[in-house]
Amino acid sequence: MPEIAGRFRHIVLGAGGIGSATAYWLSDKGAQSVLCLEQYDLGHELGASMDFSRIIRHAYHSSFYTNLTQASYDTWSLIEERTGLPLVTKTGGVDVGRPKHVEPYAPALTEAGHEFEMMDSAELMRRWPQWHVKDDDIAVYQKDSGILDIRKASYGHLALGRANGVTYVDRTPVTAITEYPDRVEVTTDAGIFVGETLSVCSGSWSPMLLESMGLRNPIVVSHEQVCYWATQNLLEFAPDRFGIWIYHDEVENYYGFPVFGLPATKAGRDRPHDLIDPANRSWDVREDNLKQVEDFMALRLPDALGPRMFSRACCYDLTPDRHFLVDHVAGSSRIAMFCGAGHAAKFASLMGRIMADLALDGGTEYPIEPFAWNRPAIVDPDFVPTLAIAEGSLTPHGM
Ligand SMILES: Cc1cc2nc3c(=O)[nH]c(=O)nc-3n(C[C@H](O)[C@H](O)[C@H](O)COP(=O)(O)OP(=O)(O)OC[C@H]3O[C@@H](n4cnc5c(N)ncnc54)[C@H](O)[C@@H]3O)c2cc1C
Repeated sequence: MPEIAGRFRHIVLGAGGIGSATAYWLSDKGAQSVLCLEQYDLGHELGASMDFSRIIRHAYHSSFYTNLTQASYDTWSLIEERTGLPLVTKTGGVDVGRPKHVEPYAPALTEAGHEFEMMDSAELMRRWPQWHVKDDDIAVYQKDSGILDIRKASYGHLALGRANGVTYVDRTPVTAITEYPDRVEVTTDAGIFVGETLSVCSGSWSPMLLESMGLRNPIVVSHEQVCYWATQNLLEFAPDRFGIWIYHDEVENYYGFPVFGLPATKAGRDRPHDLIDPANRSWDVREDNLKQVEDFMALRLPDALGPRMFSRACCYDLTPDRHFLVDHVAGSSRIAMFCGAGHAAKFASLMGRIMADLALDGGTEYPIEPFAWNRPAIVDPDFVPTLAIAEGSLTPHGM
């Protein structure tokens, strides 16, 4: 019989982008006894939240997200004040490509009250001659788009939590979760941790944890990767001259960044149909994927290319409709779970705040109804995956 390793009011599972934020916001809301468990070292590089840059933007097709983006920017401002760390760099940003994919940004941005500019390909290339796009491509520009330094943000949340008395236990994988009427038990090799609530923020490792709870697992995991190129044209791609971008081709999305974090440009290709077994993953970078991104860059942004400086692979954890999951699991009042569907870094602090609300208050004032557990995409085994799971489908809210 494993021994009790510790008793806490609130346990957070995972110290990535969302878990580090959840533990901090629990402590900020006055929770006295908070434990954050992490399977690897704190600040490890094997999860989804450890790179210099993630896109942050208002530009989404859906009010599910435009209803939350301002709160997300505001929450990052608070964390910047409290840590003294610049975390969000506004560069402006464009969604470029096939009109059928770019046009739908206009109604969503209009409804949410965010300024934007639509332009044709000639205007795009006049303003940013770095682009070489198709004649009938169009673009939407939004000035608040930019870069979130997710790695710094996660470290910042850890530091703020530490200052508030959060206990972090790293190198301690959770192997099972059991809920009782009066508590949750979390099993590890170091013993059992007992909590009144559990916030599961386990990213692409979530399928194994859902199975350990005896729940059907709706979450799939895809292999993703990004590359940094040592362009010789650093100034052309400086963040004050060239912003973040997403290119929407017929059936593929590419995305990229100006020079940031390293003296290099960075881009990747959204691959949500490239599913892998989460229990037997590889962090090896795939050459065919890299080659496809480089072919795209050579065609559309040739001056951004240069020798490969650094590539890294990581995973998206995806729900079948590619919307977030932020809710208590299967009727539980003690265990809540988060799934970021491959685009949650920009919301990490806000989502941590919401997860803290769920643990402490059972609900939240933020509009998270679309991300409920009890929706067909999560609970219906016959739900046909939409948006981005099948090869060739579209990913309007990716990144
Ligand atoms: C290539 C790529 C590009 C992306 N681009 C963007 C973007 O531009 N904009 C954007 O908003 N989002 C983007 N995303 C998505 C975003 O990065 C993720 O949604 C977000 O970082 C997920 O954070 P997380 O905390 O859920 O997961 P993670 O950061 O992976 O954290 C999960 C943590 O849980 C721990 N854990 C898991 N299981 C256990 C266990 N059993 N016991 C103990 N600990 C455990 C893990 O070790 C890990 O530390 C991108 C993702 C990828 C992979």
